[in-house]
Amino acid sequence: MDVLNLIGGRWVEGEGEEFADTNPAQPSEVVARGRYACAREVERAITAARDAAPGWAATPHHARAEILLRAAALVDAAAEDWGAELAREEGKTLPEAVAEVRGSARILRYYASEADRDSGEVFASPRPGESVLVVRKPIGVAGLITPFNFPIAIPAWKIGPALTYGNTVVWKPSSLVPLLAYRLAWALTEAGLPDGVLNLVYGEAEAGSAIVGHPGVDAVSFTGSTAVGRAVIARCGELGKPVQTEMGGKNASVVLADADLDHAAEQVCLGAFRSTGQKCTATSRLVVATQVADELLERVADRAARLVVGDPLAPEVEMGPLVSSAARERVAAGVRHAVGEGAKPLAGAEPLEREGWFVPPTVLDLPGTGVDFWRTELFGPVVGAVRASSTEEALGLADVSDHGLSAAVFTRDLGTALSAIDRLEVGVLHVNSESAGTFPYVPFGGAKQSGFGPKEQGRAAREFYTRTVTVYLGAPA
Ligand code: NAP
Repeated sequence: MDVLNLIGGRWVEGEGEEFADTNPAQPSEVVARGRYACAREVERAITAARDAAPGWAATPHHARAEILLRAAALVDAAAEDWGAELAREEGKTLPEAVAEVRGSARILRYYASEADRDSGEVFASPRPGESVLVVRKPIGVAGLITPFNFPIAIPAWKIGPALTYGNTVVWKPSSLVPLLAYRLAWALTEAGLPDGVLNLVYGEAEAGSAIVGHPGVDAVSFTGSTAVGRAVIARCGELGKPVQTEMGGKNASVVLADADLDHAAEQVCLGAFRSTGQKCTATSRLVVATQVADELLERVADRAARLVVGDPLAPEVEMGPLVSSAARERVAAGVRHAVGEGAKPLAGAEPLEREGWFVPPTVLDLPGTGVDFWRTELFGPVVGAVRASSTEEALGLADVSDHGLSAAVFTRDLGTALSAIDRLEVGVLHVNSESAGTFPYVPFGGAKQSGFGPKEQGRAAREFYTRTVTVYLGAPA
């Protein structure tokens, strides 16, 4: 399959370097080929988005919404096929991949429905005959930079709100997943998006930083690692440009002594190993009440050891490969380092000798929270556990992190669940369910080093993709 850049409404090959998108389960298999956009083409994409901005902003919100609805229908209709492509390009299992594609259609429908809720505010004025209106306008051209791990859902939750609120877009997807980017851009153009409203440019870091730094881009929304996100924040700060970043996580699950251990073990495993641990909200740290620690860890390790790892398209497979050889090296090195620091492997840890970027689901019993593992995101199917002798200590250990994306607490006690809301500095908290998982109609994003700027998803997205104008509307004299 050949993929193309989308610039000013035209599908173009790109004048940059050639690339081949390969299957992480069988790296010799090419899933898609294409060429990156060169610097001039990135420039042209930004110009096209600027030129299209006034017309799109002036298009009635319901007309913009109709296009999102048509695109959602196209995405839904293709979900099985695109899900298989997603599994082949990224490595998550087929059911997860199909669910992601369908979830993207749902996100587009949600943002289409914003047309029915589009509103400003009206305030009273102390001055006779005057009202105060707060109206919302698009920000202009949005530069969107997306990661590899949700190749269609994360782009949908940026492009959906950007478009519904009347912005035009220049989008650079992760170079690891160009095919699903092409599919989503195709659905939106096929649905009737006017030329230049959405521009898709393939490229690596250089293309991303060109978008971030370009004066023609009015605001930047980035999702990816904390290191790159901080550089994006710094550059936007220099330029005085609105920026939103969703970054890395090191998410803890806390299993307290009163928890249902079978349920907790199952949920911890889902959080740690689904999508091969490559979710920003994946469970990578585990804090267990000392009284139940051995029992819980035995169940988690047993489940990890029995997980079927293999080709993500095979129906019996429960966990696919990591996305790339570099990811496999990073995860393997992180596990070796943890073992060197005194971690005891309860499951996995040993490299898998097979073709593809596979690693085993790994459970580590850690000597404490002082190890690098507790702080460093590995972004793979590895969970490390410590013990805590009280609820207070457990919540405290979970909070020992520079990251603050997501957490899960397993307890039957309502008071404990409520205290976790105050105690844990995270953007997403699950009580009695795995740390991953998000609905498109509620805010999503992290605290601490995991997120910066307005949250994504739900109505929260409006805070980033619109700006307010406060109008003091006096009666004519
Ligand atoms: P990444 O390496 O930071 O890349 C993210 C995107 O930024 C890619 O499109 C990448 O391009 C681009 N990029 C790289 N350097 C850049 C630069 N200097 N300027 C502008 N753009 C640049 O992240 P990833 O490996 O794709 O994704 C995994 C990370 O994302 C993990 O840390 C995960 O926790 C995080 N994540 C966070 C959330 C959240 O909502 N908090 C959600 C998903 C993932 P290329 O890769 O093509 O070079």
